[in-house]
Amino acid sequence: MSQSIYFFLFFVYGLIFGSFFNVVGLRLPKKQSIISPPSHCPKCNTRLSARDLIPVFSYFINGKKCRICKESISPIYWVIELATGILFAAVFYFYGFTMETLMVLLFVSLLVIITVSDLAYRIIPDKVVFPFLALFLILRFFIHPHESYVSHLIGMVLGFTVFLLVAIVSRGGMGGGDIKLFAVVGLFLGYPLLLLTILLSTLFGALYGILLIVFVEAGRKTEVPFGPFIAIGSLCAVFWGESIIQWYWNFFY
Ligand SMILES: [Zn+2]
Repeated sequence: MSQSIYFFLFFVYGLIFGSFFNVVGLRLPKKQSIISPPSHCPKCNTRLSARDLIPVFSYFINGKKCRICKESISPIYWVIELATGILFAAVFYFYGFTMETLMVLLFVSLLVIITVSDLAYRIIPDKVVFPFLALFLILRFFIHPHESYVSHLIGMVLGFTVFLLVAIVSRGGMGGGDIKLFAVVGLFLGYPLLLLTILLSTLFGALYGILLIVFVEAGRKTEVPFGPFIAIGSLCAVFWGESIIQWYWNFFY
């Protein structure tokens, strides 16, 4: 019984934080303050009141439009809020009340924010990536339940180097933001799970690319941001990575 209350609380906190991550992801790349001005409609600039700021619900209650000027609001806001709610609850499901829960919540925060920025502007901002890099360098020294600290450092160097090489060989086919993000992902996960993340995110990216080519004619020309796929790959590695690697060893050896 009490477990389900905690699930619910983590979910609700996730919704609220998701709403905040939308603001951070959309404003930081444009060099705007996160705090002021308060949330407003991008079209008519009307300041949003409490009833417009309830995560997910406001969007549907207001008929998917701004209450004042009736401009359609992008569904990305509520999708991100709901996803963050589900992810926070999932973190509690997998890690319970441990120090690693705090770590993974931070990691989820990073991934959600860069997904918002990458979807909106095709940018993974240094202003988001570097603080998390510094934070994980310090925190991982103390909290590393699965891998040694050295494994996390190897992950960081490996993530950075592999994709720097990819960028050089492909002559800019890989963005600088992606390279730095992989350094943070490697640092957070350690190198075995980094390798799994690289595999999964390129696999998901490729599948999406194939779907675009098959179902959308312009698919070939569409530039797809890679950040969201790195995020999804990383999350799979966080939640199921150990099991996937275990399964792999049992299956082939
Ligand atoms: Zn408006």
